[in-house]
Amino acid sequence: MNWRLRQKTKKLLDEEIGTYYKDKRDVSIVLVYPNTYYVGMSNLGFATIYHLLNKREDTWCERGFLPDKEDTTRQDSTGQASLFSLESQKPLNEFDIIAFSVAFELDYFNILTILKLAKIPLYPREREAFPLIMAGGTAVTANPKPLFAFIDIFVMGEGEEVVNEIMDAYLAFRHQQGKSFSREKLLLNLSRIEGVYIPSLGQKEFKRRYISSLDSYPVHSCIVTKNTEFSRMFLIEVTRGCPQGCKFCLASHLYKPFRYRSLEVVQNQVKEGLKWTKRIGLIGGGISSHPDLIKICREIKMLGGEVSLSSLRIASITPELVSILNQKTIAVAPEAGSERLRKLINKPISEENILEKIAIINSSSLILSSPSLTLKLYFLIGLPTEIQEDIEALIKLVIRIKAGFKRELVISINPFIPKLNTPFQDMAMDSKESLNSKLRYIRKNLSGIKIISENIKDSIIQARFSIGDEKVGEFLSNRIFGGVRE
Ligand code: SF4
Repeated sequence: MNWRLRQKTKKLLDEEIGTYYKDKRDVSIVLVYPNTYYVGMSNLGFATIYHLLNKREDTWCERGFLPDKEDTTRQDSTGQASLFSLESQKPLNEFDIIAFSVAFELDYFNILTILKLAKIPLYPREREAFPLIMAGGTAVTANPKPLFAFIDIFVMGEGEEVVNEIMDAYLAFRHQQGKSFSREKLLLNLSRIEGVYIPSLGQKEFKRRYISSLDSYPVHSCIVTKNTEFSRMFLIEVTRGCPQGCKFCLASHLYKPFRYRSLEVVQNQVKEGLKWTKRIGLIGGGISSHPDLIKICREIKMLGGEVSLSSLRIASITPELVSILNQKTIAVAPEAGSERLRKLINKPISEENILEKIAIINSSSLILSSPSLTLKLYFLIGLPTEIQEDIEALIKLVIRIKAGFKRELVISINPFIPKLNTPFQDMAMDSKESLNSKLRYIRKNLSGIKIISENIKDSIIQARFSIGDEKVGEFLSNRIFGGVRE
């Protein structure tokens, strides 16, 4: 490992609270977030599995990330030492298991880049003497097919229970078989666990795992650091799924039914979090539908904390809720410009209602106390049945909101991407030309307003991964082996 990377790693560790430092146990796992430290350390799914594995006496779990771009390029071109874990800087290829936590489809490229940098063969048939490669998380749970060629074991669904069952079975098998066990027999053994999917064994069907009670597994940050998107914030997952059921939304349909944690469990998490930092972030799909949201926010404030919500359902905005919040950005998602299209996607809110709710934010104490407050509006373009009138309606709505809003307004516009397991899974994605032309038109008509958008080319690739099959794997490996992180 080069000196520069070692220094960087040491600095990151020094600035963390809550890191697990362990030494040799029965099994070693490196849990890898296939993106940078900055991105990965705000992901609660990743944090939860790290915490659950390290709670086990028999398991030693460290973290791995994609190095920053300049380090990736340097490491790839120099062929220096293999990629290493964060805590002990142990090479990834020396762990027993490498487990990828995959939230987003575009990170599939990074999985292959990480295997390449870790000097691990891409295909299972060449990996007999290498760590077992597992993958789980939202993207994989929705559609694992693009990664079939590269991953030994998929973990489908919510990982809280199944991760312990996998470790128990893995350790029992190893104790029974000794050091030189057959990998195929191990896979056969693990495939009996519900939620484990091993397509290379010819398994055609799988069952996703869901936990029935969120209260049994409180999910919150286990490491707080300033070096991440939710800097120095203690995140608590209060809801999962979303009762709104927007027809394009994976979070709502993949994690059905909507569930929430009880007031008591969240209160305990809040107290724990306030020992670490005063910034508490409540997250989850459909968070506004938590029946005790106001009580939770009030309590955080009463205990001296500051509360942020990941996003707000427009209909749930009330003067009381906004006055309790303490955040620099409020995110709301009308999704479509016209009422017709909002109805079609299952978000039937009128334009007048949206404007009334924005007016509540506008006259709140939050506006007075936060001169740098930003209102972020999320829209999709290219939704099924969208016509020019819908684009005109989007522009008109933004202009009306901007006219009355006293602080910065940011518009996030992204293409509709069909996702498997949603009612819109079979709907076609708009073409690159059409999406680019709509974006240009919107930008021209909203000049002076900050508009951010994903790269359309990336969105089209994302759609390929979301609904694609095994053949997409070839495209993936071609991209990586034609050059790292294009
Ligand atoms: S409101 Fe948001 S989280 Fe809920 S279903 Fe719609 S898009 Fe998904």
